[in-house]
Amino acid sequence: MTATHTELVPFDQALETYDPVMGLEVHVELNTASKMFCGCSTVFGAEPNTQVCPTCLGLPGALPVVNGKAVESAIRIGLALNCSIAPWSRFARKNYFYPDMPKNFQTSQYDEPICFEGWTEVTIETDEGPQAFRVEIERAHMEEDTGKSLHVGGATGRIHGADYSLVDYNRAGIPLIEIVTKPIVGTGKYAPQVARAYVAHLRELVKALGVSDARMEQGSMRCDVNLSLMPKGADVLGTRSETKNVNSLRSVERAVRYEVERHAGVLDAGQKIVQETRHWHEDTGVTTSGREKSDAEDYRYFPEPDLVPVAPSEEWIEELRASLPEPPAQRRGRLQGEWGYSDLEMRDVVGAGALDLIEATVAAGATPTAARKWWLGELARRANDTGTPIDGLGVTPAHVAEVQALVDAKRINDKLARQVFDGLVAGEGTPEEIVVARGLEVVSDDGALTAAVDRAIEANPDVAAKIRDGKVAAAGALIGAVMKEMRGQADAGRVRELILSKLG
Ligand code: ZN
Ligand code: MN
Repeated sequence: MTATHTELVPFDQALETYDPVMGLEVHVELNTASKMFCGCSTVFGAEPNTQVCPTCLGLPGALPVVNGKAVESAIRIGLALNCSIAPWSRFARKNYFYPDMPKNFQTSQYDEPICFEGWTEVTIETDEGPQAFRVEIERAHMEEDTGKSLHVGGATGRIHGADYSLVDYNRAGIPLIEIVTKPIVGTGKYAPQVARAYVAHLRELVKALGVSDARMEQGSMRCDVNLSLMPKGADVLGTRSETKNVNSLRSVERAVRYEVERHAGVLDAGQKIVQETRHWHEDTGVTTSGREKSDAEDYRYFPEPDLVPVAPSEEWIEELRASLPEPPAQRRGRLQGEWGYSDLEMRDVVGAGALDLIEATVAAGATPTAARKWWLGELARRANDTGTPIDGLGVTPAHVAEVQALVDAKRINDKLARQVFDGLVAGEGTPEEIVVARGLEVVSDDGALTAAVDRAIEANPDVAAKIRDGKVAAAGALIGAVMKEMRGQADAGRVRELILSKLG
């Protein structure tokens, strides 16, 4: 019996009675050039069914071969998550019918995953400041992606109401790593943030490893959210629901929150939670019932007879361990120390997705302060206004360092620098070319500046008199007048010197 019309219990109220328990399953599409078990290309966005062969179409007689690069990526992910690496592991067939799965089974791993028993740590903001939560990793195993169905006709793009459906097998057989946590307990009211932070952490990690582009909006990283509630003080896990394919960090957080409220509603009404998969609806922020969850035995898993076991040598594993990049959290801490940013500044930089850009800008010669000023002050705003990713504006770290060098050389000032950024975003060339083409260079010719200063003094006798009387602060009004006449193209510091030397 499915309970569909139960009232939600507000999140805070639900937390008074229950402790949430989460299990997160994240599928990461690897960025290997070829598929998991054949040589087909994995490039995203190609014409449907142009990247297929007898193996990934499951034609009779075709035999799979394991992609060595995918195994390497799997091991590196496992090591970065502090997992043990199995010296010997096998693939298994997971049998079920799905139109976009041409072999009628998914080649996956079952009781012998390549990576197991790991852990990682995520930090979130709590009422008491930053707090770290440890997340235990059950396993990370290799498998293949399915194809994609396209439902044509009908208003929603879903199968209900469609006139017909098309299947594209280009994605069928693309390597996936599925990372499964153990039940995450003890997060209380922070469960939604911990879930979000964990997925963000994984995304950062696989990007740092260079094994996936982890674009949630393109589906190359997807999260299934398992959630159950335990009455406070109980020690038996409740029945869970599994919300499939949640496709953004924000949605992960919202889906956990929603499921807590829904489960509490069902339980408070004296009903039972149905173990089932659920669909997340981005637009309305709710989940709806999918299919009743199958148990593992329903899939009739059995060892894949066409593939040899994966048996990485100890030397290879140690080689891969030695070549792991600096963990993202450690790197952030190191850079923050080197740059002298406050916690708040660092958080803004990370939040704006500008960490790599600033690192490259500093490497190109700008100071950390200048690099942050331009990326966060000018460029993050432009990115926001236009809905463009900050690294997609057409402005490079080298450009930003060059703009700052022009400011330091007093050839332009900060205000003119903004016009240079306008030119960069518009694709008008390099900063140097834009300064020349737009005629932005500051006037450093003292003759022209002195003439403008004289005119400003003549036009503002009261202000000039105040400065003569020692009220130096009044100079601002004269500087403003000169800058206006020079259309901003003057060195304000030099203008001030000229004014004070005339009236001092
Ligand atoms: Zn193929
Ligand atoms: Mn899977």
